Amino acid sequence: AFAQLGAFLTYKAARAGVPMIQVDPRNTSRRCTACGHIDKRNRTSQARFVCRFCGYTAEHADILGSDNIAYRAASTWAQSTAPGAA
Ligand SMILES: [Zn+2]
Repeated sequence: AFAQLGAFLTYKAARAGVPMIQVDPRNTSRRCTACGHIDKRNRTSQARFVCRFCGYTAEHADILGSDNIAYRAASTWAQSTAPGAA
């Protein structure tokens, strides 16, 4: 199901002229965006995120997850468009 969703998104993004970047989804809901600490226990409930290392509290765990995905996409994009990148 996820592979099919990826194929649809790639197709739609190409049609719209929007760059499409796939990122590794591992730990996106467990990684603190303030300090980078990854811990399953950072996610105290489905909606709540509290970093065990620095105490950072996210407005909502899903927003934190989307921030981590956006960060990974931006860094992947920067690497792919850097001078000398293939
Ligand atoms: Zn933290």
